Amino acid sequence: MGMTFKTIQEARQVVSFYAMANKKKLKTKKSDTKRIRYECYDGCPFTLLISKDGKSATFKVKTLKPKHTCGDSFVNPLATYHTLAVYFKDEVQNNPKYPIKDMRGILEKKFKLNVSRSKLKRAKTMALDKLEGSFKDDYNRLEAYGQELRQSNPGTDVVINISKDALEQGIRRFLRIYICFKALKDGWKSLRPIIGLDGTFLKGKCKGQLLVAVGQDSMNHFYPIAWAVVEKENTGTWTWFIQLLRISLELKNGEIVTFMSDMQKGLLDAVANVVPEAHHRFCVRHIESNWCKKWRSGEEKKLMWWCAWSTYEEEFKDTLKVLGKVDEDSASDLLHFPVIKWCRAYFDTQCKNLMVDNNFTESFNSWILEARQKPIIKMLEEIRVKVMKILVKNEKMGRKWQNDISPTAMKLYNDY
Ligand SMILES: [Zn+2]
Repeated sequence: MGMTFKTIQEARQVVSFYAMANKKKLKTKKSDTKRIRYECYDGCPFTLLISKDGKSATFKVKTLKPKHTCGDSFVNPLATYHTLAVYFKDEVQNNPKYPIKDMRGILEKKFKLNVSRSKLKRAKTMALDKLEGSFKDDYNRLEAYGQELRQSNPGTDVVINISKDALEQGIRRFLRIYICFKALKDGWKSLRPIIGLDGTFLKGKCKGQLLVAVGQDSMNHFYPIAWAVVEKENTGTWTWFIQLLRISLELKNGEIVTFMSDMQKGLLDAVANVVPEAHHRFCVRHIESNWCKKWRSGEEKKLMWWCAWSTYEEEFKDTLKVLGKVDEDSASDLLHFPVIKWCRAYFDTQCKNLMVDNNFTESFNSWILEARQKPIIKMLEEIRVKVMKILVKNEKMGRKWQNDISPTAMKLYNDY
């Protein structure tokens, strides 16, 4: 009695949840913009009247006979798809693949309520559609998020672009966001100067792609540096991303740095244009999958990897000769990929890194797979928290070292 609600919609929502929780099959008796009256079935005395509260804009429970004489009901007309969408909102938003089977299970277990698959499917779609809107139009929330990151992490670069097309129509619509934390910038400067680049699709309802820049620490763990959400991966978005990264990490013309990526055209052009002095390695696994369409036998693949792992020119040439003997075309085809981009013998020695594949960057992307299914701010926050936690874990490990040299580096030194 006396409970108030902001709107009649809110009142309806609460009564629907009441009916579900108490397994009661209520029916609406009188319903208009000013009042709503509920009764129960089977001569049960339960009555509830909610109506406008005098001159105020709110609504209030005016009549309540709370006792039921009826039994539990296993169907419930008030459990509409809209009510169910609100009920499952968090679960579905956190996991867009949340199974309908589980939704049914929960309703059965908690409320003894039997709801059809089609109704739940509709409820789930409704909860997800609201998310899509939040990706496209939630520019203001993203700007506030960016401001919060800048304030709580001074020196952090957060850049948000809005759509020019939408702006012409007077709408401020989110287009891209770039984030590079100050702590990650500073940390990267003490690591070997290698940066893996990769783009990956967002998995949820929100469209777009995630671009990441990832380094490697002295234990060969991935070390995330910066990430961005863009509309899609192309020369324009990669150029934008690398320009911002260049500023964040003070890369100048790229003299000191080595990039690692697969061979997407947009990305290659962007690196060449923005940081023309940088070294750029091509991931050998991508060379393998392009070259290998023709050369599928194990022997040729194996020799290709040996070519990539050759650490001096003669070794490379000898291995290539062996490959040529197995199949002449496979060797000449392999040379279509500029050898200085993928063979250790030709790598610069400045970055002190033997990597010939981009696995470390791709493993970062799969590590955040779950986050990639979420709406944009939830995703960015989950990435931030995950990165923070793994850095703490790695630091704790580092504090247990016997000296200033990492066990991985020490092992390499001893092996040689
Ligand atoms: Zn009743």
